[in-house]
Amino acid sequence: MNAVEGLREVEMLMARAARDAGRDPADVDLVCVSKTHDAAAILPVLAAGCRVFGENRVQEAAGKWPALRTSYSDIQLHLIGPLQSNKVSDAVRLFDVIETVDREKIARALADEMARQNKFPRLFVQVNTGAEPQKAGILPDEVKGFMQFCRETCGLTIAGLMCIPPADEQASPHFALLARLASEVGVSGLSMGMSHDFALAITLGATQVRVGSAIFGARG
Ligand SMILES: *Cc1c(COP(=O)(O)O)cnc(C)c1O
Repeated sequence: MNAVEGLREVEMLMARAARDAGRDPADVDLVCVSKTHDAAAILPVLAAGCRVFGENRVQEAAGKWPALRTSYSDIQLHLIGPLQSNKVSDAVRLFDVIETVDREKIARALADEMARQNKFPRLFVQVNTGAEPQKAGILPDEVKGFMQFCRETCGLTIAGLMCIPPADEQASPHFALLARLASEVGVSGLSMGMSHDFALAITLGATQVRVGSAIFGARG
């Protein structure tokens, strides 16, 4: 299966999952995760109509997307990987959505940099739903306090929550937890679901799914 066939298959399964859950398929966005894939691999997917892409490294995105944007001005680029303080300026410049706001220092730096550049990417708070020590994200118990910090101390608007469930567990309790937390803190965006579980995530309320290998094939 090539990437365009993969894309069509994912779109079909997404629409089916949405309809089965009584949801409008138009309410769920597909973020095509193009990390590790070069422009030659991405171009057919762009030509097929996809405009929303996810990258996990600021540096890698800086190397490929400015050129692609000159041909497709309506691209929407999501940062889905960890953000370091020294990359905040580049991230604000490059990305339309930053899904990995995960600590106070980054929230402050984003607020400063967004004001400086007068550019306001949509922001998601990453939640470590499995409380995994090695994983980035705000612990579930701390989401309320962190949202307050973002909104009141930093003046940021937060569009939603994002999670990456533990690899070795059922994803559904993590998706359900993220949905509950989002409703408690009053945000509507839910970024959850990857290649192996995006249909389940849609059933549980995802407003955007992040799908890489089901479109582009396994990463080398
Ligand atoms: C790589 C990645 C994805 C896509 O994973 P696939 O299993 O290839 O669909 C989604 N979200 C994040 C945060 C990622 O790093």
